[in-house]
Amino acid sequence: MLLKTLREEVLDANLELVRRGLVLYTFGNASGIDRNEALVAIKPSGVPYEELVPAHIVISDLDGKIVDGNLRPSSDLSTHLELYRRFPNIGGVAHTHSEFATAWAQAETPIPCFGTTHADSFHGSVPVTERLSAEEIAGDYELETGKAIHRAFKKVDSDAIPAVLVAGHAPFCWGPTAAAAAHNAVILEFVAKMAYHTLLINAESSPLARELHDRHFLRKHGRDAYYGQVKTR
Ligand SMILES: [Zn+2]
Repeated sequence: MLLKTLREEVLDANLELVRRGLVLYTFGNASGIDRNEALVAIKPSGVPYEELVPAHIVISDLDGKIVDGNLRPSSDLSTHLELYRRFPNIGGVAHTHSEFATAWAQAETPIPCFGTTHADSFHGSVPVTERLSAEEIAGDYELETGKAIHRAFKKVDSDAIPAVLVAGHAPFCWGPTAAAAAHNAVILEFVAKMAYHTLLINAESSPLARELHDRHFLRKHGRDAYYGQVKTR
């Protein structure tokens, strides 16, 4: 089987979204890329999660040509491919319609960083895309969604904020692997829920101080990170 390990990783990332309560029915999808082969593994469209096995995972090249697999890929494949083309550091993408993150996407409101939980994973507000035009919606809709995400990151570092809210739709998250993308989708939902409650308690809540925000993000990410255990190989 082509890319057996990647298929297994992608399957597990999809199941993680279910285990964490982020998907209803067949909503949502996760993918991963083998950068050496330039091949993407993604969940098939509309197959119940409980029936998914590695052989169901569809393998596509970066142009959307199906290289291996008998099932149709997730209908969001073109969005995933655009993200892999535009963000060369990422190795996985996860898309859900998780309740709180989707509510923020529907409100077309960036999620501010109110606390260190957010700062640990997202170095700034989680941005919202612009609405797609009628032409974009009528055209190659999923590709245009990917392009809108890329536009939202013109001045935002996609490695420091590995998530976006697609206006009127839902979040997309990414990371170095499919597992990391799913992890970020779980954290995003948690952060979105807490930001909602923060504003309910005090609608005037102000974002976390920049110094504390930076301190928390940088102790987990980047050159000088010191959170957790030293990795030995
Ligand atoms: Zn969706």
